[in-house]
Amino acid sequence: MINDKDTIIADNRAKCICEPCPTYNECMRADNALLFCISGKSPTCTFDKKGCVCPVCPVKPIRGLTRAYYCIRGSEQEQKIP
Ligand code: SF4
Ligand code: SF4
Repeated sequence: MINDKDTIIADNRAKCICEPCPTYNECMRADNALLFCISGKSPTCTFDKKGCVCPVCPVKPIRGLTRAYYCIRGSEQEQKIP
């Protein structure tokens, strides 16, 4: 069922384009970390900002995302907290 929350998350995750992003690194790959816009920034990895492809991600219009660098700055929800 597409209205099942886990199914929607899995669908979003499958569409996430973080892996080819220049900022995505070996630490994130080892954690199989994706979908930072929903799950928040990585608790263990550190990053050098080398660009962010979130603005062209297919999840952006689906989720109504407005931010970027979720792996560093936190989820859409976290970034909206003043
Ligand atoms: S917006 Fe960024 S973090 Fe969210 S699914 Fe797309 S590429 Fe991944
Ligand atoms: S959240 Fe943005 S900067 Fe981080 S890996 Fe994904 S596309 Fe790259």
